[in-house]
Amino acid sequence: MPSKYLAILFDIDGTLIISGGAGAASWRMAFDELYGIPADIGQYTDTGMTDPDVGRQTFVAVMHRQPSRAEFAKVLERRLYYLYQMVADSKDYRVLDGVEELLPRLLDDGYLLGIVTGNLEAAAHIKLHRAKLNRFFSFGGYGSDAADRGELTRIALTRASLVYGEDVRPAQCLVIGDTPHDAEGAHAAGIKCVGVASGKFNVAQLNAGGADYVITSLKEALPL
Ligand SMILES: [Mg+2]
Repeated sequence: MPSKYLAILFDIDGTLIISGGAGAASWRMAFDELYGIPADIGQYTDTGMTDPDVGRQTFVAVMHRQPSRAEFAKVLERRLYYLYQMVADSKDYRVLDGVEELLPRLLDDGYLLGIVTGNLEAAAHIKLHRAKLNRFFSFGGYGSDAADRGELTRIALTRASLVYGEDVRPAQCLVIGDTPHDAEGAHAAGIKCVGVASGKFNVAQLNAGGADYVITSLKEALPL
């Protein structure tokens, strides 16, 4: 039976790869270089936030004021600069179980693959680059498109339609992510979410967090 799905949208961190702390390390180095403060984003932000929110909230927490536009742009630039090196050097970077087999198989089966992530677009590609995963994805919605995960998921859908050449409806998409935030963002765009318990949340937490289906790793069959 042909699948009712056409496009599959993947979260990055905890779903496709684990960067081994490279994300947080790069923010720390950017704030340290610019302000002499090795800011720990884990103290000021939570895992579901988009990169611009993480940068702004951390700036306000350590500097006790809002950044100017120039300051904010510089923080983002330095953070991307360090991210490239931190990802390249990270000892604990790894591609999660099943990913390298699943992505080519989905393409063979005719699905369009995309990214939905709170990362800035450039940060997303830096994280995927080390494992040569960029080539599987023909569209995406990123933290640089919207602060709200629902909105960036809708933007991803619009881009899927542009790539596909006709309207891609929410019911034809599936989001795959490792946190309840992924389920919230997917549902806000009218899309069902598969929770994969490969990150910080287990099966019970993902079920309670609103995922429509839950699997333990991407070695398991998707509900296609
Ligand atoms: Mg994630």
